[in-house]
Amino acid sequence: MEIFRRWWSRLWDGLKLDNWRKSVRSPGAGFGRCLLCLEPIAARLICAGCERDLPWRGSQNRGAIGSAAPRFATFSYAFPIRQLIAQAKFSDGVGIASLLGQLMAENPPETDLAGFVVCALPIAYARHVQRGYNQAWLLAQAVARGLGLVLLPAPVLRRTHTRPQRELGRRARYRNLRGAFRASPAVAGQRILLIDDVLTTGATFHCATRALLRAGAAQVVAWACASVEAG
Ligand SMILES: [Zn+2]
Repeated sequence: MEIFRRWWSRLWDGLKLDNWRKSVRSPGAGFGRCLLCLEPIAARLICAGCERDLPWRGSQNRGAIGSAAPRFATFSYAFPIRQLIAQAKFSDGVGIASLLGQLMAENPPETDLAGFVVCALPIAYARHVQRGYNQAWLLAQAVARGLGLVLLPAPVLRRTHTRPQRELGRRARYRNLRGAFRASPAVAGQRILLIDDVLTTGATFHCATRALLRAGAAQVVAWACASVEAG
């Protein structure tokens, strides 16, 4: 029975992945139909069934990851969240980024966020220009709207250009980002909810958090759409 269940779930994921590729190839498709199973739907980009099947981390896993700093993630970095996040990095992925942010806001971490202000984890200026937008900013916008929190203007936290983190090992990631973030004094005394798309080793969150605290932020809570850490 278990084998059958696993076989079925893999087949189902395969079908969804296929639909997903079709939807991505023909922009505009997907609207009026679920991006993943192509069921006709009225609102959103995915249907309620596919939303239920997303790789949610579950209420206990929306709790802090790692003990040093409060870090949260709504999803595991698995199908189809992995594909949705990749798509959110392209200019036709703005709707997808908003959907992901909306799903985050509807499933917030189990921590008191009253009085927090929302801040997006920045990408380097050159990458921003190349891509046209920062997907973390789109997530942050949807999170702030969904939770009724204030969104800090983007220049509050800046990032200089560094080597892509992807190519580096854990230690090198920290070294690479040393001094890469600068926070403005506008964050002084603020409790900040720092938003990013993917939590990998936590090096980016760590370095951005340090910059915010150095500039006088009272508290920082990091919240990613998805985490590669198991759970
Ligand atoms: Zn669906």
